[in-house]
Amino acid sequence: MESDTIAAVASGMTASGIGIIRISGPEAFFILSRIFQPKKKADVTGYPSHTIHYGTIVRREGGREEAIDECLVMVMRAPATYTTEDTVEINTHGGPYVMQCVMDLVLKNGARAAEPGEFTKRAFLGGRIDLSEAEAVMDVISAKSDDALKSSIMQLSGSVRLKITELREVIMDELAFIEAALDDPEHYEIGNYGEKLLIKLHPVREKLKELRGSFGEGRLIREGILTVILGKPNAGKSSLLNALSGADRAIVTEIEGTTRDILEEEVRLGGLLLRVIDTAGIHEARDVIEEIGIGRAREYASRADLLLAVFDSARPLDENDEEILSLIRGRQAVILLNKTDLVPVVKAEELKRKSGGEIPVIFVSAKEQTGFGRLLEEIRTMFFHGKIALNEETMITNARHLSAIDAALLSLSHVEESVRDGMPEDFYSIDLMDAYAKLGEIIGEDVDDDLIDAIFSKFCMGK
Ligand code: GDP
Repeated sequence: MESDTIAAVASGMTASGIGIIRISGPEAFFILSRIFQPKKKADVTGYPSHTIHYGTIVRREGGREEAIDECLVMVMRAPATYTTEDTVEINTHGGPYVMQCVMDLVLKNGARAAEPGEFTKRAFLGGRIDLSEAEAVMDVISAKSDDALKSSIMQLSGSVRLKITELREVIMDELAFIEAALDDPEHYEIGNYGEKLLIKLHPVREKLKELRGSFGEGRLIREGILTVILGKPNAGKSSLLNALSGADRAIVTEIEGTTRDILEEEVRLGGLLLRVIDTAGIHEARDVIEEIGIGRAREYASRADLLLAVFDSARPLDENDEEILSLIRGRQAVILLNKTDLVPVVKAEELKRKSGGEIPVIFVSAKEQTGFGRLLEEIRTMFFHGKIALNEETMITNARHLSAIDAALLSLSHVEESVRDGMPEDFYSIDLMDAYAKLGEIIGEDVDDDLIDAIFSKFCMGK
């Protein structure tokens, strides 16, 4: 365990209602007693755990006492705290200067400024949470949609840890059996063990593959679905983006080709996050600026997770529309037949046929904001098998976890090869041990300090 006491502004250094200075470590209560003048006379170091006290933060110098700010302090004693150490949180007014003054006092009285993520690192080192849960803390903070938040909260409550621990136990049981059997061949029947081992490992590998498979969905949930809106000029791309994002950020005009710049907007659609890129229309470039815009549109379209192809239902299809149809063929795309509030001249069947027959067509009106519910349903079907909300199944969202799972799967496939090749049992142990260790990395077992430092350094200050 670390033995010094750390402190940081936990609430962010911007003007806000309340600012929180957090102190954790063995000296936390002592430091508080040096800078806190309680309204009700008391021995501050003797405060019971999980209590809140009103008073003033004071600077004491040369027998003089100067009030810095009135505050509430929250005191929590080890081990039932976030870090598992004695913890004090001082709630001051949320001015950057006030917070800085209180922070300076805390440091002068014996604390050290915390590194980013150091509070959570202590929670991990103190054994309160495992590494996957620590990482989930950061995901909760950076969550940008309902689904992202739900999946992070599930991981924070140990969904990944439980699943990984369960799989490791199966592997450990087999390792133990091999050891015992090799030590004591008289009492253990090891003939034909290889085949039995493969049967035992089969569900482990299947579950690992499932977890592996969840990563794609996990990424889309966490980072958002990279979405490109395609459509000829005046089809209504900007209007749609505005209607979806509920803001009026893209410039909407009636002059063809005004949407030159590529705008990225985060759109929350029923719990999902779409990172929508609005592009200049796909049509013949008329000047240099547009040419750049169109080139970028094509480039983004090739990288997008989802293409939203907008067609103007009130104007006949032209060669621009044909080009867009060819661009979306075979892709994860939705056709939005826009302006359905006007008299239609374009038929949905025609678009459906020309796009290869697989891509759903949805009637929308950016103007009247209709059809978005169907759009959400289609996207859910496309990316999340129609799931309306995240269910209980464990999902991985972290690239570090993915590579550990891949490594474990590789080791387990080596076990299978050894069995098929009729290798002796101790060969199985080596690869089983590797798989066990790799899975352990996910929850932070036997990981080296550099990795831990690297993970926590990505955290924000005061967390
Ligand atoms: P973009 O060039 O594809 O981005 O198209 P805009 O969003 O700038 O829209 C072009 C014109 O179509 C504007 O005058 C919009 O007000 C109009 N428009 C867009 N969506 C609709 C719609 O659903 N119904 C009607 N009636 N007009 C629309």
